[in-house]
Amino acid sequence: MDDLYKKNILQSDALRQYILETSVYTREHEKLKQLREATIEHYGKGPSCKMVPPEEGQFIYMLVKLTNAKKTLEVGVFTGYSLLSTALALPEEGQVTAIDLDGEAYEKVGLQFIREAGVEHKINFIQSDAMSALNEILNKGEQFDFVFVDADKPNYIKYHEILVKLVKVGGVIGYDNTLWFGSVALPDEEVPEYLLVNRNALKELNNYLASDTRFEISQVPIGDGLTLCRRVE
Ligand code: SAH
Ligand code: CA
Repeated sequence: MDDLYKKNILQSDALRQYILETSVYTREHEKLKQLREATIEHYGKGPSCKMVPPEEGQFIYMLVKLTNAKKTLEVGVFTGYSLLSTALALPEEGQVTAIDLDGEAYEKVGLQFIREAGVEHKINFIQSDAMSALNEILNKGEQFDFVFVDADKPNYIKYHEILVKLVKVGGVIGYDNTLWFGSVALPDEEVPEYLLVNRNALKELNNYLASDTRFEISQVPIGDGLTLCRRVE
């Protein structure tokens, strides 16, 4: 159980540790580090600690830079590790709209570090159910360069059909946890009960994205699996 909650699919712990120590911790922004440590302090390292691992935060930062994104969207904030990674990467006039059903983890744990990092002005936090917030954004006709989705997995396909319209042509949507602790590759009968619902939803999403010709895709085996979808039409 503990092993499954490592939230990374690299088979060797030593290799992951090597990556973290060589390239990630050495470069991690001081406020990201403090936010990460405060999150672990509050939520432990088990299943209730849902933040992206730091190597993935670093990758999200890089993606925001590479796509030259100015307007981004995040669905699923928790304490804000991926959000702060995004906000740090955005230019001064950039904006990230961040949606979460629950504002408590963000306000009680993450926000202070986001303020101290000097990037709060780039963040528009919306406490709401994702579906209603996304529909509202759609009605306003807003569009985004980059979207990171890390919320309730069984609704990813429904979000995708709205996000198709919210992401610009050439823009990128990233879906997190698409390998679900590696369980997507296990035969049904070997999947632990507590992983099954999300695992089935993510398998369905993976097939759905693989056949969606509106996007080019790349399944990146970082963290718990991140599928990048670039809108082509
Ligand atoms: N990206 C975050 C982790 C997100 S954890 C990080 O790096 O730390 C998943 C989050 O999705 C939780 O905070 C949860 O409150 C939120 N969530 C779950 N269902 C949701 C829904 N229907 N609408 C909006 N947010 C939701
Ligand atoms: Ca996640």
